[in-house]
Amino acid sequence: MNEIPYIPFHRPDIGQEEIDAVVQTLRSGWLTTGPRTEQFEREFAAYVQSPCAQAVNSCTAGLHVALAALGIGSGDEVITTPLTFCATVNCILQTGATPVLADVGPDGNIDPDSIAQRITGRTRAIMPVHLGGLACDMDAIWSLAREHRLFVIEDAAHAVGSHYRGRPIGAGDSDGRAASDAVVFSFYATKNLTTGEGGMVTMHDPALADRMRVLCLHGISKDAWNRYTEHGSWYYEVQESGFKYNLSDIQSAIGIHQLRKLETSIQVRAAYTSMYNHAFAGLPELEVPPQCHTSRHSWHLYMLRLNLERLGIDRNEFIRVLKRKGIGCSVHFIPIPLHPFFAADANLAWNHCPRALALYPRLVSLPLYPNMTEDQVLYVIKSVQETICSARKTRPVGVSAAITGELGKP
Ligand SMILES: *Cc1c(COP(=O)(O)O)cnc(C)c1O
Repeated sequence: MNEIPYIPFHRPDIGQEEIDAVVQTLRSGWLTTGPRTEQFEREFAAYVQSPCAQAVNSCTAGLHVALAALGIGSGDEVITTPLTFCATVNCILQTGATPVLADVGPDGNIDPDSIAQRITGRTRAIMPVHLGGLACDMDAIWSLAREHRLFVIEDAAHAVGSHYRGRPIGAGDSDGRAASDAVVFSFYATKNLTTGEGGMVTMHDPALADRMRVLCLHGISKDAWNRYTEHGSWYYEVQESGFKYNLSDIQSAIGIHQLRKLETSIQVRAAYTSMYNHAFAGLPELEVPPQCHTSRHSWHLYMLRLNLERLGIDRNEFIRVLKRKGIGCSVHFIPIPLHPFFAADANLAWNHCPRALALYPRLVSLPLYPNMTEDQVLYVIKSVQETICSARKTRPVGVSAAITGELGKP
């Protein structure tokens, strides 16, 4: 039945350059954090137009160390979105702070009006997530943060290559007046830029960058760390209890080459997105992913929305049918209140997110990555169209049929 072999939901785009760079690093004799990581940090900071960058071994680690470096902990509240990966909320819990969920707006991103309603005397930070690569309304979030003296830590796991009003996520606003305290990117295997596992925190405050560097390596002081990395020196001092969150040179060697390909890969993602949008926009059973014309989408995810009231099948059946046709889909995300780890908190009034819960059953992410072929994109389009056509709710006979006069035809 399959015309082409299985199209997985994602396949990482690793080329000969990455493979050669890893081999070179392995042969160099320096495997852990060193010259390649320093280079990757420098080039990444330049790419997102941020003065400082700290490489970390995951986005989860980066979110955690950012919260810790900003002094967030027990008794504090941090406002984030229900439509995210569990890591965003786990990091808040691990500092001892309380996560508070603000509901999403029509675009699926955290709604600034809902954030405003959730701010209390204990609120210390806002953690927006650029869902799928669509930039959040940062002007509104920065303005709330200024007004209430809150930190902003962006979960930019999907947003490497996204722009907000003409500037890369991480760069801050165009007149240099506002920027988040920390912006955290993910280089997990499925993300737009991958090092297998890895991440980057960018920030504008060099003092915060220094503090994060110390916390990422056991709490070893920066000066001692500089001596430590010089061959032949054995002495170091632990200034405070820190974490083990540094990125290895093996991974950074991959990241350097992934970064060089990023602009091209985003162009391919955008082209495939246009093909999807063009094919699906005319189907009333589907709603194409929201876009913002003043910001560039990274198209990390193509999050299609089903108009369930027009369909005889639900989202799970839609995914099963596509799987039988040889296409892997996914769902982003199971809202935080639906997970057992959050069950006790889900019923609290400040975690009520009816719009996120209503959106969730409609969401299906289709395969979208630069090493898909155009034929594969066309096959996904054809398969989605077929699935929709055969699941289309038939109009009630005698009502719409009578209106269109079809029954009267001989
Ligand atoms: C992938 C992801 C993370 C976690 O990234 P890791 O690098 O795997 O730690 C965090 N937040 C969101 C929204 C993600 O999609």
